Amino acid sequence: KKTSDAVSESIGDVMAAFVKVDEDLLEELEEAMILADLGASTASRAVDELRDRAKHQHINTKEELRDVLCDILSEMMQEDSALDISKKPAVILVIGVNGVGKTTTIGKLAASYTAQGMRVMLSAADTFRAAAADQLEIWAQRAGADIVRHGEGADPAAVVFDSIAAAKARNCDVIIVDTAGRLHNKANLMNELNKIDRVITRELPDSSRETLLVLDATTGQNAVSQAEQFNKVAKLTGIVLTKLDGTAKGGIVVAISAGLGVPVKYVGVGEGIDDLMPFERAAFVEALLP
Ligand code: GDP
Repeated sequence: KKTSDAVSESIGDVMAAFVKVDEDLLEELEEAMILADLGASTASRAVDELRDRAKHQHINTKEELRDVLCDILSEMMQEDSALDISKKPAVILVIGVNGVGKTTTIGKLAASYTAQGMRVMLSAADTFRAAAADQLEIWAQRAGADIVRHGEGADPAAVVFDSIAAAKARNCDVIIVDTAGRLHNKANLMNELNKIDRVITRELPDSSRETLLVLDATTGQNAVSQAEQFNKVAKLTGIVLTKLDGTAKGGIVVAISAGLGVPVKYVGVGEGIDDLMPFERAAFVEALLP
């Protein structure tokens, strides 16, 4: 609701004044989409597609325009797909810079699995800050998950190794690994992630794997550039966009899914344990457009 309010000030105004699809409308719409955080290239692609469709399709009412736009934006995004945790113990590697809501997301995700009767192991491989493991431990308690942590400055790959051993011994279904996302030192980050990756591949060659990037939706286009940078150092399988309950303009979700080619898997809509929603592109776009 907040997302659609924020967007409707602009895209809504353009649609409310709709008469016909012409160059003026396309230009105004493109501008409104950029204001709504869709990003310049996504907005331009969407408008080009609308111009194209208007040649073959009757778009005479505001409702018809809305339907076509929903269709276009939805199709530009990656198809919906749930996390694959079928081959157990599945490993979910979670990356992202400090403050985006990584720990909170891990806690919420763990809670959703334990609520389904699964056994979850959290792996505190962000050994850069002691506070990170402390926070994760609080979430492990809340979610009813197990946790493996070492001291500050420990080797993250060693934490992951021990987490896997403990998860095997306790018959866990899912291991969720918290990592230190220090983007300012990309070579280090890449080495660290590679090392973790080798440990997982060696110890759990047949397990399902996911690599999720957590992004803060309130940072707008900055989230897009973070996503681009992380996409270069890790093979991302999904995105989680947090803080969509705030004043964020939801267009950022479209920009990332369409621009990066990585599906959005979940959105965070609050600080509570239940405030994580599986992402559905059609429903999201419906809510985005007034
Ligand atoms: P980390 O440093 O990436 O691990 O970030 P944290 O998980 O510690 O979260 C940073 C802050 O963002 C905390 O105050 C969280 O409560 C808050 N937060 C995380 N996710 C959400 C969300 O979806 N909505 C809102 N409003 N706040 C969130």
